[in-house]
Order: sequence, then C-alpha cells, then structure tokens
Amino acid sequence: MSFRLRLVISFLLVVLASLAIFWIWTSRRLDAHLYQIAELDLDTRLQMILPLIRIEDPDLDALIDRLAAGASCRITVIDRTGKVMADSAYSGAGLVELDNHAGRREIMDALEFGRGSSLRYSTSTEEYLLYVARRLPDGSGLVRIAEKPESIENVSAGLKHRISLAGVLIALGGAVAVWLISRRMSTSLERLSEAADAISAGEFRAEIPVRSGDEFGALARRMEQLARRLEEQLTLLESERNHLNAVLDSLTEGVLVTDAQGYITGANPAFLKMFQLSSEPVGKLPLEVVRNVQVSDGVQRILGGGERWEAEVRSGRRVFLARFAPIGRKDSPAGTAVVFLDISELRRLQNTQRDFISNVSHELKTPLTSIQGYAETLRNENLAPIHQRFIEKIYRNAAQLSEMIGELFSLARLERGSSELQLEEVSFQELVAEVRSEFSEQLEHKQLTFESAAEPGLDRFRADRRYIGRVFRNLVENAVKYTDRGRITLRMQQVEDGFRFCVIDTGIGIPQEHLSRIFERFYRVDRDRSRRTGGTGIGLAIVKHIVQLHNGQVWVESRVNEGTVISFQLPGFSPATSASGPAA
Ligand code: ADP
Repeated sequence: MSFRLRLVISFLLVVLASLAIFWIWTSRRLDAHLYQIAELDLDTRLQMILPLIRIEDPDLDALIDRLAAGASCRITVIDRTGKVMADSAYSGAGLVELDNHAGRREIMDALEFGRGSSLRYSTSTEEYLLYVARRLPDGSGLVRIAEKPESIENVSAGLKHRISLAGVLIALGGAVAVWLISRRMSTSLERLSEAADAISAGEFRAEIPVRSGDEFGALARRMEQLARRLEEQLTLLESERNHLNAVLDSLTEGVLVTDAQGYITGANPAFLKMFQLSSEPVGKLPLEVVRNVQVSDGVQRILGGGERWEAEVRSGRRVFLARFAPIGRKDSPAGTAVVFLDISELRRLQNTQRDFISNVSHELKTPLTSIQGYAETLRNENLAPIHQRFIEKIYRNAAQLSEMIGELFSLARLERGSSELQLEEVSFQELVAEVRSEFSEQLEHKQLTFESAAEPGLDRFRADRRYIGRVFRNLVENAVKYTDRGRITLRMQQVEDGFRFCVIDTGIGIPQEHLSRIFERFYRVDRDRSRRTGGTGIGLAIVKHIVQLHNGQVWVESRVNEGTVISFQLPGFSPATSASGPAA
C-alpha cells in the first residue's frame, strides 16, 4: 500500500472515530437538554392552570377538558389517595375504570416534594408521555399534565441528521485535503529515494531537487552533505589503499592476508614470486595455493585465538621465515596477516660458517692432540723450573683449546639439528646430585651454598638425559664461575604446560643491555674475566639449542651485583625433533 493511501486511510479512521465519539456525546446531551426544556414548558403551563382547579368542583371534568384543549395536552386530577378524579383523556365509564395512580413516579414525587416529573410509557393511553405533576395549593390532591415527546424527538432527529452530514462532509473534505497535501510529500520522498539510489551508485555530486523549506528540504541538504563527505572519505580510502598497495608491491617480503574464515583476501607480488604462483590466489585457501601444511596450520592457529607465531617454511630449495599475526582482536581475529622473509641466503651463510668452524676444528684437533701429548710427556720430565712453568702453560692452553674444539663440535651438531633426541624418565634430584659432585671442589673453594628446591613429590620428567645433564652442567658451571659468595639454587616447578627449571645464583649479575645476546655463540659480557675463568662463550648457545631441540624455551633475568636466574621450560611432553618452534 502506498504511503499516500496509508496516510488518507489513517486520517479517515482517526476523523471518523473522533466524529463517532462526538456524535454519541452530543446526541445524549442534546436529548437531555431538549427534554429539560419540554419539561419546563409543561411545568409553566401546569402552574398557570393550577389555581383554577379545585378537587371538589362538580364541573371538574368539563373544566379539565377545556383547559386541556387550550393547553393542547392531557390533564389529570388525582386526589391525595391516588384516585383519578378527572382526566381529559377519559370520562364517564373510562374514568371509573382507571387504576389508582399513587404508584406513578411523578405522583409519588409530587406527593412527597410538591413537584414530580417522568418520561415513561403510559399504560392508560398506551404511548410514551412526558409527565409533570404538582400538588394543589390546598393539598387536597394534585394535578398532572402530560404531553407526547414527539416534537422533541423530531427536533433531536433533525439536529442529529445535520450533525452527521456535517461530519461526513468534514471527513471527506479532510481526506481530499490530505490526499492533495500528501502528493507533495510523496513526491519529495520519491526524489529523496532516487537520490539515495544515485549516491549508492557512486553519484556523489548530484543535486537533490527538493527545495522546500520544510523537513524534506532540510533532509535533502543533509543527504547532499553526506554524499560529499562520503566521496571525500572514499577518495581518502582509495589513496590510502593505493599507498598501501605501492608499499606492499615494493616489499621484498611476501605478504599474505586472509579473512576470518581463512580464505585469502590479498597477496603481494613478492609472495606470488616466492611461491612461483601464476594464478590469482584471492578467494582460495592457503593450502590450495601454497602446498605447505605449516602455512595453513599457522593461519588456523591464529584464527583459533593463538598468539603471534613464527615458523620456517620451505618452498623448493628456498627457506622462508613466516610470521603469523592476527588482524584486529586476538580472541576473535578478523583475519590473519602472514609475512614471509626469505632467509635462504642467511641459512646458506650459517651453514658455510658452521662447516668452516667444523672443518677448522677438525683440522686443529690432530695437531692439538699431539701438542697436548708432548706437553704431558715433558711435564713429567725433570726440567728446570722455568721450563717446567712454560710446559705447564702450554699444557693448560692446549687442554682449554681442545675443550673449546669439543664444544664447537657439539654446537655444530646441535645446530645442524642432526641430533636425535632419546627421551626417557629423568630424575631432577639425580641431576642435582651429579652437578653437585662435579663442582664440589669449586663450591667448597668459594664456600658457596648449593641447594635444590622442588615441590614435594615432584622429581621425574621426560627429556634426553645426556643433553639435559649438559644443560644443568653448563648453567651450574656459569653460576659457580660468576658467583663469589652466597648460594646457588636449582629449582624445579610444574607449570600449566610442562616443567620449569631455574638456576639461581647470587653472583655478579649481567647488565641489562647484554641480556638479549648472552645466548648467542661466542658472546661474552666481560671477555677478560671469561677468558681468565676459561670461558669460551659457547656454553649458553649449547643450552639454548638443547632446550629448543626439546621444543622448550629458555630465558634470563638478572640484576648486576644481585644475581642471575636462568630459566628453561620443557613441555610435558610431546617430543619434536624439528628445529622450528617458538623463538627462545
Ligand atoms: P662462557 O663460557 O664465557 O661462560 P656462556 O655462553 O656460558 O659462555 O655465557 C655467555 C656469557 O654470559 C658469559 O661470558 C658471561 O658473561 C655471561 N653469564 C652467563 N651466565 C652467567 C651468570 N650466571 N652470571 C653472570 N654472567 C653470566
């Protein structure tokens, strides 16, 4: 149904309902008023004839008939008991047959209050009559005067008819007026709706031809303003998008973006080149585009509410570091952004470096062993004290070098990821006892307290015993080396997803700026001290690699002159032998 028709029908309904209510109220008031006037008129006539009537008058009946003819109404004279003494409508036998009137409403009121009236059906004359009765001045009886209410009804009906007619005319006139007025409104609405269509189709500059000074005109101007602002915003967005596209196009890193369902919504040229894609990946799932489970798993992991995440991804002979991050809120991401960094060259250099170290170490091993052997033989000879001192130095340095080379080998093997883990049940207390006995001499020499702390009943965990023993050894060795007084504590705790171990000392501590680098190989905070204490800078790199091989994490907290806590966490436990995992 059109807006106009609805408006007219609503108007008619409201007007007709109002008219009906008005009509009912007016007609009731009108009837009551007309009867009141008629009653007053009758009463006036009654009062005029009242002094002429006496109940004992022998010609009463004739007098009543005359008076009734003059007043054009029915007159009845009734004595105090209600007996009809004379009635202009009856005479003779008819009068005698009339029943006692004491029970009539107007008679009762007149007897009691001097005056009474009623509008009712007359059982005597069998018609509706309006009665007014008054007591005679001498109290001997009363006189009643009655008249048919026909004239009242006629007047009332005439008036009601005219009111109804006027009402219908008003309603019709109003409906026509509403129809005509609504034509203007609906034209304005149609134009506004056409303008809205044009705006949504991209016509932002069109003028809306509604020029009236009312709300429609104001709405049209607002829509024009809105369209201009929308155009500005779209232009801004467009230019920002171009900007972003230019940046993405020029990036050497590959970028892949998905929606909340995991479907690709964008990818830059570097990504297409990295994975040698010829077709458009938008709208597809990552697994359909890059046949690599790690990429699609990474995306799903982020969409499932996971943390930012990194993984090494291989495509052919190339290696990429993929960084997964949620778009928007982490708990309900609007999508995933993945950045791919080509680290093939880095890996190649690392391999070359590793091979170089491995080869040099290997080449050094044989001459060093023979130097160590000769030095040891000479140590036992009876030499001059100065020569004895030189030989001792040669022997110690060769031993230190040999140890370093051994560590370099271990590190190279760990870095290659070639070491297979052999998981077994390991006892924390056994490891503690082992390191305690290994470093007992140094602990005693420095008078350090050595203790372990674990919740009662907590002792066993799964790990590669050989490797994890090495981790404890390296960490305790450092703690002993860099602590001159106080204590060294080894702690084991059960955490939500595994076990956490801490080696806590009260030693010299590590300055803040070095904390992020101490797990790098050959990194030493104080080279002189490290060299003096036989440090190689490889111990913590080995620790990091072993923990990563267990799919765990290692970190450090330290305060200079207060002490150091080196902690590592092992999962609880599903072994992973790949080198990829959360960055430690
Ligand atoms: P190093 O053989 O020199 O000890 P590491 O790789 O074990 O090599 O440690 C790297 C550097 O970290 C050390 O040279 C030292 O400066 C610092 N470091 C390691 N552990 C501690 C510790 N418990 N307290 C103070 N400094 C430490």
